[in-house]
Amino acid sequence: MKFFSLNNQAPETTFKDAVIKGLAPDKGLYFPDSITPLPKEFFENIDDLSHNEIAYQAIKQFVSPEIPEDDLKAIIEDTLSFDFPVVELNKNISFLELFHGPTMAFKDVGARFMARCLGYFSKDSDEEVTVLVATSGDTGGAVANGFLGVKGVKVVILYPSGKVSDIQEKQLTTLKKNITALEVNGTFDDCQDMVKKAFLDENLTSKMKLTSANSINVARWLPQLFYFMFAYKALHKKYSNIVFSVPSGNFGNVCAGMMAQQLGLPVNHFIASNNQNNVVTRYLETKDYEPKPSVQTISNAMDVGNPSNFVRIQNIYNNDFEQLKENLSSFSYTDEETKAALKEIYNDFTYVADPHGAVGYLGAKAYIESHPDAHCVCLETAHPTKFLDIVEDVIRENVALPPQILKVMGKKKKAIAIDTYSDLKTYLLNR
Ligand SMILES: *Cc1c(COP(=O)(O)O)cnc(C)c1O
Repeated sequence: MKFFSLNNQAPETTFKDAVIKGLAPDKGLYFPDSITPLPKEFFENIDDLSHNEIAYQAIKQFVSPEIPEDDLKAIIEDTLSFDFPVVELNKNISFLELFHGPTMAFKDVGARFMARCLGYFSKDSDEEVTVLVATSGDTGGAVANGFLGVKGVKVVILYPSGKVSDIQEKQLTTLKKNITALEVNGTFDDCQDMVKKAFLDENLTSKMKLTSANSINVARWLPQLFYFMFAYKALHKKYSNIVFSVPSGNFGNVCAGMMAQQLGLPVNHFIASNNQNNVVTRYLETKDYEPKPSVQTISNAMDVGNPSNFVRIQNIYNNDFEQLKENLSSFSYTDEETKAALKEIYNDFTYVADPHGAVGYLGAKAYIESHPDAHCVCLETAHPTKFLDIVEDVIRENVALPPQILKVMGKKKKAIAIDTYSDLKTYLLNR
């Protein structure tokens, strides 16, 4: 399978090269050259397939031949070593829980898959790859955990000092081995700027292989399409009109769902649920796409002013506004509405959601009002204890900490403090 750049100014390339590069040389996102739908029987017989088999069939066309069958199967088995339960609230709404991985965020699957692919590709190479990633909280932990102990890969995470939660900081800074945390005296935007500068710094890139691990990377983005197939497997016998509500920030997850649909998954509609960072909600209303600086909300993993994966979505629908609108609805909510939803979900269903899942729930409810025969699967993208203060404050109950969180609580933080880009460069050149 070849991948092309959505900016159309870079040569087509292989999966391997797209994973190692992250972004194309013309700064475009990579996209697969073709998508061949899976046979109808695959979906008819999905009950007979394990999660690993579903994942293998779904992703192999994108990854082969560069990762041979047996190696790909091993990577998938290793990546998907936890559960993806579906919890039905009522006949219209379910939560698909994507938080049972090691850092309790849905990003674990993409990060683990990408880490294993990169590990596979650097196996026979002497040249080490450095994954450089800026995080506002969740990405860093998932990437750090995903890459822990992967040979030939070093990970450097930049995070803004004092601006991630205690649990998130522990998840980033306590792993050691091939993972280094740099604590930046600044904001998330400062971290992001330093990372971008590094990728453009030929003085650095001539001396080392640098890549990124956010959802622009095809190996982090594509495996997210598994979720939608797992939910379909769990619910298709009971419900014939399945739609998905996806709490969206950079729109990688919802775009992966659309890839599953392109592969033939019988799903009728997607709902992108937004907080007040609602450039896509407004686009679908007005036809004007106007990125804005992000505003801070309680669902902070979705505080994105210019979603990086939206160009991929536009490509899937041939840049046709009407076609997109037929397949995608979008709604946006304030923090107050999100808190009220957390409370409602708890009171009505004794289910503890996190703020991102609550935004997804609100989007589902809005859609169902005009489509009462739909069954809407809300992707619950993080465990509520990652946002403990807000959740406990709203539901007025203590929430038990799961083992993944307890495990990091007592560990000792290890981070290197930096102030400027030149500190980052000095670190990278001299480590
Ligand atoms: C990253 C993240 C999102 C947003 O996912 P996108 O693929 O960027 O749209 C939603 N919820 C949580 C908890 C996340 O960490």
